[in-house]
Amino acid sequence: MSCEELSLNNEKCTQCGKCKDYCPVDINLPDDLEKKGNGCIHCVYCYLVCPEHAINFKGELGFLSEQIRQYDEIVRKTA
Ligand code: SF4
Ligand code: SF4
Repeated sequence: MSCEELSLNNEKCTQCGKCKDYCPVDINLPDDLEKKGNGCIHCVYCYLVCPEHAINFKGELGFLSEQIRQYDEIVRKTA
């Protein structure tokens, strides 16, 4: 997996705060998702847990493709 960029779809985001709850480096999400130098380690947890599919991923999913194929909706519902 190689993440080049994560971006926020403001029209889908409900400001529920789940992405911030799961961010291991405590970035002020979703507001600072696209902020340069925000300290993001590209773990993509925020992308995986967002219940609204409001975070866009740019890059190569690699091994995550199969995980997403099987568990995407379960993870978003139960996280
Ligand atoms: S989890 Fe998704 S909907 Fe909730 S605040 Fe983050 S980006 Fe917005
Ligand atoms: S990819 Fe990981 S480190 Fe970066 S903002 Fe999302 S949860 Fe935080």
